[in-house]
Amino acid sequence: MGDTLAIFGGDPVRDTLLPYGRQSIDDQDIESVVAALQSDYITTGPEIDAFEKGLADYVGASYAVAFSNGTAALHAACFAAGITNGDEVITTPLTFVASANCVLYTGGKPVFADVNPKTYNIEPSSIESLITPRTKAIIPVDFTGQPADYDQIKAIADKYRLVIIEDAAHALGAGYKGKKVGSYSDMTMFSFHPVKHITTGEGGVITTNNRKYYEKLMMFRTHGITRDPAKLLEKRHPWEYEMQFLGFNYRMTDLQAALGSSQLKKLDSFVAKRKAYVKAYNQSFRKMENILTPTQLPGTDSSYHLYVIRLSGPLKGLRKEVFEALRAENIGVNVHYMPVHTQPYYKNRGYTKGMCPVAEKVYEQIISLPLFPGMTDEDAADVVKAVKKVMAYYEADAGGEG
Ligand SMILES: *Cc1c(COP(=O)(O)O)cnc(C)c1O
Repeated sequence: MGDTLAIFGGDPVRDTLLPYGRQSIDDQDIESVVAALQSDYITTGPEIDAFEKGLADYVGASYAVAFSNGTAALHAACFAAGITNGDEVITTPLTFVASANCVLYTGGKPVFADVNPKTYNIEPSSIESLITPRTKAIIPVDFTGQPADYDQIKAIADKYRLVIIEDAAHALGAGYKGKKVGSYSDMTMFSFHPVKHITTGEGGVITTNNRKYYEKLMMFRTHGITRDPAKLLEKRHPWEYEMQFLGFNYRMTDLQAALGSSQLKKLDSFVAKRKAYVKAYNQSFRKMENILTPTQLPGTDSSYHLYVIRLSGPLKGLRKEVFEALRAENIGVNVHYMPVHTQPYYKNRGYTKGMCPVAEKVYEQIISLPLFPGMTDEDAADVVKAVKKVMAYYEADAGGEG
């Protein structure tokens, strides 16, 4: 029978694995990296300044500071926000581990607020209930590219004097109430990992409008060193620099920045392609009762790093079976994310299952489908075909053969 699932020995929907995400690199990108390689500076040179300026202008922020990766950028933001031993920082469990690990790096304690059951973004009422005198900051994550509820998060932050560090690794090019993500939080982080909207291989950035944060970030990424004569604490020889606090070597290279500037020119077209595939997915899945498509709140303009479906209703198998069946059809599905507080490292430090029941339930039911600008209409059609094929089997009455 033509419809036998590949996992049971049938023909897969496609012959090669379609990944859930991947970079789009063209000849222009390659030429800009080669030009940077042939220039005078391959690190700490003019390509870094140009990339930072390009990013700051794109999002509408006063400053941008590039880092070796997004995790380093988050670490720097926590340092600039003054997070130190014993400070608490509230974040979401439905994220990549880096959103919480950056707090641990500074000696602080991540506290996990539960998520909204529709958007899967951090739930503002859950944040407020977790605030203590030691709470210093909030790290909301714009999950899948949809900005969190910043009107409410900002009101809470103002009331309790908390710093907002927006983890916008998923949300470059997104908007919130008419403003570009990167322009309104105290600090905003973007990542340039290959699956993200634009890539530098590895890379990250913090955007901010605050000059004090900017200066700390700049020094943090280079060992806590300054060469600015106006900032030296002890006036000594003109050739000396001063290390004023313990920073790191978190610099990006000019090769990466050159790639980033070239990629940035294509960001809007990349986001437009993601949106077109999202529209096609939404239309294809609209009538499928057991699949919940992503909910978008009014005022948010997602840039769709991910397309996450949620399984509902009685199925003949669990998410695990559906996931494995889709993989067998050569659809590179993924799951974003196992809640951070349920990771072994966190469990061993006293975080327990049950702390964030909504996130834990959502996690059991979600699957990320392939979505990236370089995929073709045929690729997207394969995804839809595979989802329909697999769901037809798992939706059939228990006992019936698919
Ligand atoms: C990718 C990602 C990061 C970390 O970025 P890297 O550049 O890989 O270090 C942080 N948070 C979220 C939500 C991410 O998706």
